[in-house]
Amino acid sequence: MEHELRAIGNGHAEWIKQTVRVDYDNRSQRPLGFSRNGRYNKVIKLLGTFKGDLSPNDLTYLVKTVDGNTYHLYLHLSDFDPLHTPSPIRWTLGFRVLKEGTTIGLPLWKSRIHKRLEGVADFHGDLCPELVIGCKACEMALELLPGLNTFRDIIVIAENNSSPALDAIQFVMGCTLGNRRLRVIDHSRHIYLFVSGIGGYGVKLSLKEVRFNDEDRFNEFERKVVEGSATLDDAVCYQKLLDARVARLAELENAEVFAVEKVRKCFVCNNFLTESLIHENYGFPMCENCRLDMAGNNSGWYINKRPAIPREGIW
Ligand SMILES: [Zn+2]
Ligand SMILES: [Zn+2]
Repeated sequence: MEHELRAIGNGHAEWIKQTVRVDYDNRSQRPLGFSRNGRYNKVIKLLGTFKGDLSPNDLTYLVKTVDGNTYHLYLHLSDFDPLHTPSPIRWTLGFRVLKEGTTIGLPLWKSRIHKRLEGVADFHGDLCPELVIGCKACEMALELLPGLNTFRDIIVIAENNSSPALDAIQFVMGCTLGNRRLRVIDHSRHIYLFVSGIGGYGVKLSLKEVRFNDEDRFNEFERKVVEGSATLDDAVCYQKLLDARVARLAELENAEVFAVEKVRKCFVCNNFLTESLIHENYGFPMCENCRLDMAGNNSGWYINKRPAIPREGIW
């Protein structure tokens, strides 16, 4: 639906404002079709439902019809007044969305990841700011770890479980939950470790604070969209803010978006930690816990490692 919201925001609409008869399916709560100028327009897809702005119970629908057009239908539910209103329900065909103005104007992002951004957006469903964050993380990791000439050795450990950035990582790096090369710990933050599973080294990318100077408006529109109280105008404004964030993130240098630390794997517990927390012990890289465990074990330490017990969040 982002394309349609973008077109509406750019004023690419043909105004109709005509009362129409609509077939409405109560069970699925969606318009099935409408008649206009003696012609029936069958609805094949409901793109979105929004609150209306004339009275509190009104709803608006963006629908795609069988001929490939997108229309705006407004359902007005007036307070019943037998003297003035013949029917409390009135449908208005508001406008038809024109097809121009649906693409986002991105600044030239000269990288191989940029070429994949369209593919990533198709895979994910829309082009949103966190998708760009995910793409940039992949791009930066591949620049920092040029020695990994085969992707099959890269494992990604992500510290959130619901960001669109994860879709970008899966699409670009081929690391998925299914092939166990994407591991997720839910700390709800944009921290991504790109590591070599065999080599035991890698980088940790932590999102820096990026100011967009629209935070209050953005949060307000996002809240409305998430809780289902957004009008079509709200959704259009939200899409504009999303597009502005996508463009801003795309033009930032990777180093402005992420803080980088090198990480290494503890030989004993297999956790990846920032390099400053890893010490050489008996010639092996170890975290402090494993080093202390070993120092307290007078019966000697054997090269046969204990089974790895992941300690969450110690990096
Ligand atoms: Zn998205
Ligand atoms: Zn350890």
